[in-house]
Amino acid sequence: MILTVTMNPSIDMSYPIDHLKIDDVNRVKDVSKTAGGKGLNVSRVINFMGTDILATGIIGGFFGKFIEKNLDQEQIQHSFTHIDQETRNSIALLHDNGNQTEILESGPTIAEEDNIRFLKDYKKLLEKTDLVTMSGSLPRGLGSDYYSKMIDIAKENNVKVILDSSGETLRTSLLNNNKPFLIKPNQNEIGQLVGEKFERSNYDSIPYYLNSSIFDGVEWIVVSLGADGAIAKHNKKFYRVKIPVIKVVNPVGSGDSTLAGLSVAISHEKSDEEILKTGMTTGILNTMEKRTGFINKDLFSKYYDEITVESMNYVKEG
Ligand code: ATP
Repeated sequence: MILTVTMNPSIDMSYPIDHLKIDDVNRVKDVSKTAGGKGLNVSRVINFMGTDILATGIIGGFFGKFIEKNLDQEQIQHSFTHIDQETRNSIALLHDNGNQTEILESGPTIAEEDNIRFLKDYKKLLEKTDLVTMSGSLPRGLGSDYYSKMIDIAKENNVKVILDSSGETLRTSLLNNNKPFLIKPNQNEIGQLVGEKFERSNYDSIPYYLNSSIFDGVEWIVVSLGADGAIAKHNKKFYRVKIPVIKVVNPVGSGDSTLAGLSVAISHEKSDEEILKTGMTTGILNTMEKRTGFINKDLFSKYYDEITVESMNYVKEG
């Protein structure tokens, strides 16, 4: 079973408005409210793929109950640590021909006793797990080394960790003695880590940067490149993954869906090629749906078959 961790879930509310009037009343007919946060997108896609999944994290209040009910409706198993504070809302105003204005609450500040209680609950859940995914930013009150602590506990229990984070939290996790098994930075996130800007013209230099010492001990690095597919490193092997051109409806959450596909294939002990193709396919399928973190599994083999994975040479810079 795969355990997915969402430390700061939210209710994602989207309000389509023809024209946003500032300092005035905006009326909305067609509101959508779903369980959100990167880890819950991952959970949904793993569930669509038919793999056993248990969602955990920290949740609270009326909005926390809403999320749990939403997961029940989607038949996603969950076991959250409950706190005495409200889970947050994330509001997206979709207006004026494709503009998206977002209002994002930071969410609760986690108290020391809740932080310790979560780690205890998490340790218990790991007993039933062979792989854990950790996605997204950490709530206030938890230090940037919180994922490192969770990686240490996973290591003690022989559970592989797939980490999708960014900035200081990702850097701190990479500097920890125990490393994540897989990370999936996108083009910007890898650029921030190695101090370089990547675009199509210098993709070929990515393998060079993936050999940086900051990645020592990380078995898999999958750099997702949006419509350009991915470049990946598994131990000492490098891969270029090319994907078909498709009609994109909504790319938000493609990284989460990719993470879900990678996790499913890894938990089923697939080959490198199958792992990469599965991750790319779930990412692509998400971009074809209006809703974030949804895929149409019926289209899976069509797109899977159109993806190519080639070995890539490591080119020394300079
Ligand atoms: P997000 O933050 O929106 O979740 P991300 O930046 O982490 O996404 P991306 O690199 O944008 O991740 O996308 C992940 C994968 O999804 C890509 O490697 C690709 O397989 C698929 N994908 C994303 N955008 C497109 C696109 N425009 N066309 C086809 N596939 C796409």
